[in-house]
Amino acid sequence: MSENIFNFSAGPAAIPKSVIKKITSKIIDFDNGMSILEISHRSKKFKEYAQRSQSSLRRLLNIDDNYEVLFLQGGATHQFTMIPQNFSNNGIADYLITGGWSKKAAAYAQYHTRVNVVSDSSDTNFTNISDKSTWNIFPDSDYFFYCANETVHGVEIHEDIDINAPLICDMSSTLCTRPINISNFDLLFAGAQKNLGIAGLTIVLARKEFIKNQGTQLSPIMRYEDHSNDNSMLNTSPVFAWYVAGLVFEWIEEQGGLKKMANSNKLKSKLLYDYIDQSDLYNNPIKPKYRSWINIPFTLSIKNLDDEFLTLAEKSGLYNLKGHRTVGGMRASVYNAMPIEGVERLISFMKDFENRQ
Ligand code: PMP
Repeated sequence: MSENIFNFSAGPAAIPKSVIKKITSKIIDFDNGMSILEISHRSKKFKEYAQRSQSSLRRLLNIDDNYEVLFLQGGATHQFTMIPQNFSNNGIADYLITGGWSKKAAAYAQYHTRVNVVSDSSDTNFTNISDKSTWNIFPDSDYFFYCANETVHGVEIHEDIDINAPLICDMSSTLCTRPINISNFDLLFAGAQKNLGIAGLTIVLARKEFIKNQGTQLSPIMRYEDHSNDNSMLNTSPVFAWYVAGLVFEWIEEQGGLKKMANSNKLKSKLLYDYIDQSDLYNNPIKPKYRSWINIPFTLSIKNLDDEFLTLAEKSGLYNLKGHRTVGGMRASVYNAMPIEGVERLISFMKDFENRQ
């Protein structure tokens, strides 16, 4: 991507420019003149790289040996099915519905288990989450599922959730945007195409004891334990996506790790929210406590202005600001790879646009 362009897409999303430069050379020669696009996942060179990338992620997130790190195909959506298939022992699972993605996860789970909806904030158009004291938690559920950051609605749960059941989390858009306490979770997952590189790869972190002997009635490709026993190489790995993820992990480490990412994401989003909140034209409806640090939806108070906003934004080098088709309006995704200059440019554009109305 050219230096003067900023990509606000929710995913596939911006990738650090230095990472893209590194990829360019390895497209030509990764191993003995062979491109990264043509080498085997079972080659010595790639296996070494895979190990290195895993170590890098373990360092970043402070993952200890009680946890398995899996590099799988199938996208985050595939996890919506694998989870209930693997862990439905009592046949009922808790789902906290805070936006489009957790809603979809609950809908997919219903093919395999009874779903107990703990709370569903669709009555607020997913602008708020009800207080935990009102949640309808099932005492014997197999697991509790939630989505840490709703990419479409821009709702983020910033605090740890304290629950008795095994805790499972969709971290597709938040993993590596801030430090997390891995030991709170039994399993979490993230599609790579937001903060970890490109589509085609899903990272799963799972407590080894939690996945042990689970889903024994399933075929191996659906079982976490089988993927773990085969070091995520039960079938052909998404070599290129894995390679990119490894470079992104190294880039995050070079930038100073997850605390640095968190500070930067918090600052970028604060700049944008502060501007939106004082403006008469723009509005973000999410309760401040749950506002996402990385996906910031906003609407325009004047009707039929969206298309003009988007066209002029593109002319200014600000791409992919259109909101999700189910929500409308705009959405700025300011993942790790979005520099603060991108957000400053966006705010300056929004000011100019507002002044012209
Ligand atoms: N969960 C969340 C929070 C997401 O943002 C997305 C993708 N935008 C998904 C799940 C689905 O991911 P995939 O398309 O990789 O299946």
